[in-house]
Amino acid sequence: MTSPLLKIDHLEVRYGDLIGVADVSLEVPRGSVVALLGSNGAGKTTTLNAIAGIVPVSRGSVVFDGENIAGQPAYAIVRKGLALSPEGWRLFAQQSVENNLLLGATPLADRARVPRLLDRVYTVFPRLAERRAQRAGTMSGGERQMLAVGRALMSEPKLLLLDEPSLGLAPAIVDTMYDSFAALHKEGQTILLAEQSVDVALEAADHAYVLQVGRTVLEGPAKVMADNPDVQRVYLGVE
Ligand code: ATP
Repeated sequence: MTSPLLKIDHLEVRYGDLIGVADVSLEVPRGSVVALLGSNGAGKTTTLNAIAGIVPVSRGSVVFDGENIAGQPAYAIVRKGLALSPEGWRLFAQQSVENNLLLGATPLADRARVPRLLDRVYTVFPRLAERRAQRAGTMSGGERQMLAVGRALMSEPKLLLLDEPSLGLAPAIVDTMYDSFAALHKEGQTILLAEQSVDVALEAADHAYVLQVGRTVLEGPAKVMADNPDVQRVYLGVE
């Protein structure tokens, strides 16, 4: 059996005296889509940010492609092949769609790959191709979400981290977005996806973990989790 692309053991993240994540363990096998579910404040964003090196890990290990990257800076982690599409997008509003995408390719050592990666993003998200010259700040929420994912793809990550890609979007846009994720999955892209929308995430994922107050409390194959009444119960915080 090959080792997972990402393996987190007993991750803890503190914000001063506050605990953002108390004890999270999870695995992301190569080529899989894994969902990280949980309600508001459960610790999904903190977990993704800790993996990407944006917030410091106070305890535990984050082994990516065989190496413990906990404590390494974000710029070094992205060069190892791990890219985050953050909640709230953090785009350059005054820059064009294409410039935002090109900025995503900054960590890439092999510049010759940029045109091919741009083509890949435009194939996955045709809407971005149509709007390549438009300023990012004038795009709809769904288009900005696509752009944030596209920008992350431009560093050709082995692992794509997606933070709440469905947040605030109309159901039809969410479906379009998830069709694109399914296409990426089919290509072999490994994805770790944080979502509050349980149903869409479980449909897209192979495996899922549920976080509650900073701890992984449930896990299983997505198909099994979809039929598990405890998922909704834990998720909704009903005892
Ligand atoms: P959301 O969907 O609201 O982002 P989440 O599951 O991603 O929820 P986190 O944002 O990771 O949850 O928050 C986990 C816990 O850490 C919460 O109790 C939150 O209040 C706390 N927290 C998050 N960011 C900070 C911060 N910068 N400073 C202090 N506490 C924080």
